[in-house]
Amino acid sequence: MNVAVITVGDELLSGETENTNASWLGRRLTERGVTVHRTEVVADEIGEIAAETRRLADRYEAVVVTGGLGPTHDDVTMDGVAAAFDREVVEHPEAVAWFEERDGYHSSDLAEGTTFLPEDARLLPNETGVAPGAVVENVYVLPGVPSEMKAMFDAIESEFEGERTHVEVVHSEKPESALVDVLTDVQEQFDVTVGSYPGDGVRIRIGSPDPATAEAAAAWLRERV
Ligand code: ATP
Ligand code: MG
Repeated sequence: MNVAVITVGDELLSGETENTNASWLGRRLTERGVTVHRTEVVADEIGEIAAETRRLADRYEAVVVTGGLGPTHDDVTMDGVAAAFDREVVEHPEAVAWFEERDGYHSSDLAEGTTFLPEDARLLPNETGVAPGAVVENVYVLPGVPSEMKAMFDAIESEFEGERTHVEVVHSEKPESALVDVLTDVQEQFDVTVGSYPGDGVRIRIGSPDPATAEAAAAWLRERV
């Protein structure tokens, strides 16, 4: 399964808030065998959100959007996603019912707009916060608050599934430039993906859907790095 992630928020673009939702979603989706092809950071602007949502929804099997769901003036994600599919944002009967059934909440207590979602969206209740999420065609809209985003993703994660990759990590103290040939060789000898990440030494990541293949390639490599 191929997906893209869109994180919405001016505070992410300015660096005021670190984009931890992007790395968390990337990790969780990858663990499920889903390939994340791109992650975008988009301003709190309806036009920008609509254009990116449209483009990525056409291109990938699913798009996960986070941020900008609340009822405040700078939260325009639902409007942007609705616009991407030429839909209106309308009061969602299931969202109204959900709040009415929930202890302590009545529609009149909520900020205006809280129960409004793109027309014909599937409601994703927010069990740990207020603003609900939604699914519109292949676009999943989740809250920006990390704890709320994580809880909502946990509830829908089974909808994201792909071929899982077994990963082996090999460490080398050699400079990356000295590893060029051996990294080419390992890819020729074994049906694996290879990534090399310099930092404290070089971390080499070997991936394969077949654990035995990844382990054999890693063992081969450990003898040579
Ligand atoms: P609310 O309903 O509380 O307004 P929201 O879904 O509208 O939530 P935002 O307004 O975008 O979300 O952000 C709420 C909080 O979550 C902010 O403190 C914001 O910095 C943080 N946040 C939003 N997006 C991310 C992200 N990608 N990574 C980490 N934190 C984020
Ligand atoms: Mg908000």
